[in-house]
Amino acid sequence: SESKRQAREQKEEEERTKQISKQYKVPMGRLLSYNRPEWPFFVPAVLGALVAGAAMPMCTVALVGSMNAFYKTDKEEMRSDLEFMSLLFVIIGVSCLLGSTISNGCFAILGEAMTQRLRVNILTTMFRQEVGFHDNPENTPGMLSKALELWAFRVSSLCKSIQAKASAISSMVVGLTLAFAYCWQMALIMLGSIPIMIVANAIQMLVLLGATKNENEDLTMAQQIVTDSVMNARTVQALGVEKALVAMYVSWVDKSAKGMWCRNIAAGFGFGVSSGVMFFVMAGGFYAASLLIKDGSADFEGVMMAFMGVFYAGMGAGQAAVMVGDTAKAKVACHDMFKLLDRQSLIEGLEPSGATEEKLDAGTIEFQEVRFFYPFRPEIQVLKGISFKINAGQSVGLVGPSGGGKSTVMCLIQRFYDPQTGKILIGSQQKSLDSLNIRWWRKQIGFVGQEPILFNTSVRNNILYGLDENETVTEEYIKKCEKMCNLGFLYKNQNQGLATEVGPRGSRLSGGQKQRVAICRALIRDPKVMLLDEATSALDTQSEAIVQKALEAAREGRTSFAIAHRLSTVQSCDVILVNADGRVVEKGSHSELMAMKGVYYKLQMQSQK
Ligand code: ADP
Repeated sequence: SESKRQAREQKEEEERTKQISKQYKVPMGRLLSYNRPEWPFFVPAVLGALVAGAAMPMCTVALVGSMNAFYKTDKEEMRSDLEFMSLLFVIIGVSCLLGSTISNGCFAILGEAMTQRLRVNILTTMFRQEVGFHDNPENTPGMLSKALELWAFRVSSLCKSIQAKASAISSMVVGLTLAFAYCWQMALIMLGSIPIMIVANAIQMLVLLGATKNENEDLTMAQQIVTDSVMNARTVQALGVEKALVAMYVSWVDKSAKGMWCRNIAAGFGFGVSSGVMFFVMAGGFYAASLLIKDGSADFEGVMMAFMGVFYAGMGAGQAAVMVGDTAKAKVACHDMFKLLDRQSLIEGLEPSGATEEKLDAGTIEFQEVRFFYPFRPEIQVLKGISFKINAGQSVGLVGPSGGGKSTVMCLIQRFYDPQTGKILIGSQQKSLDSLNIRWWRKQIGFVGQEPILFNTSVRNNILYGLDENETVTEEYIKKCEKMCNLGFLYKNQNQGLATEVGPRGSRLSGGQKQRVAICRALIRDPKVMLLDEATSALDTQSEAIVQKALEAAREGRTSFAIAHRLSTVQSCDVILVNADGRVVEKGSHSELMAMKGVYYKLQMQSQK
């Protein structure tokens, strides 16, 4: 059930993360190109990181130098040596401070700019996709907003990881160079210990990860028992199975506790191993040093410098290794993000020339044997060969049982989807819909749905959003539309006219008011075609009458399609299409269809009962 499913999903997710991080190569060049405008920041960012990384091994020079100075017999020489070393410490300290501050600051600027740019890109890409993209169960609103939130953030951390890498590399290079410069024999001996240190560090990391992982399956099973029995408290009590359930619970909790012990002992051991190894390395290193010094092939300063240099180089390598775990998630995010960014929209992908559009009489629409299923539900043939021809200016009523495909016809007219077979032709010239510029085409259409969707801004913005700059709408025309849609309420009850804020999802307006704003929004574009999908079905009778009036006005002089639940609202239409089970079963005016005494006639009779 629920918790089990979650555990399984988490496991799948981990498996996927492992797979992708192993196989996927991050296109670093492409990623960094998102920082092109900020490129000058890269120089101080990387330089700063290099300086900060070099500081630790560099300070060994001052440290060993100081130790050496303390043994000077000439006190004056000692003092002046230490004065120099102190100065060196200060210089290293200041460079470290400046380096890491500058590097952090610059990488923050780079990272933020990249995150923001990626977010805008992801959002634009989402909008560019065809409507069918959102039918994919992988692209739920939750997934997409998570993507926007997480991907960009994680991906930009890949860019920030350059900082840690530069630092680590600098530590390694400077540490090893110093070590070999001061005493190559000692450096070689110490180098042999690096793999041991890395392994010890890795062991520590692994057991620590294991110990902190508290979601283990045994506990999940125990929780499952609790959820089930609490949810079914009545059954539990009626059957008297409490004791048995407690026993089951205890057995799982016991198992989990044993697991916890094992993991904790392992963690302690791992920790012990890794710190123990450090001491073993010191033991071996110093013993080897004693032999070298006795031999006369090295002195104290040389062996100490070699020892510390390699030691810091090893630390740098360790830090780099720790980051590998961090980047796994970022890699998956990067993989998923570029997959989306590279997706071609199935519909907007064709970008034909807009030359032919202007001469078209967009109000003439013809369906020829259109067959269609939703791409993510291929098993249901929604339209099974629909044909009709509507001339410019005609009003069309679409009626029939729900699920017959009426809304789907409207989707196809708006070209949210392309039919699999058959043709949709526009204008008396019969231009195929998929050869027209899609932005132009959608501007020819006004759509009013069942539930008006308003954005959380003013009425004015809601009405005018989406119009291009060159499409100026005169205040006079706005006034005219306002009147047609009965927006008088905007000037009463302390409302502020068009400046009235509608609130989230239009919640400050009543259902009827929202719908009238939505109709006005459709009208302001002066569309050639009006699509009304049960625009009044969610309203009470009183607001329905007002909205109906606005709708009548909106349909004047345009081609219009209206899906209607209430048959009375389509009686006056020029053409009524009766749709059932993916087909147009009857076609004609109200009186013609009544005379036929077929499906429409029966629907009429039913509705009057
Ligand atoms: P009507 O408007 O006549 O009630 P619709 O066009 O809304 O009918 O629906 C026709 C069929 O298409 C129904 O079986 C419905 O479940 C299905 N359908 C509608 N929208 C989608 C979609 N986005 N994805 C998959 N199937 C859909």
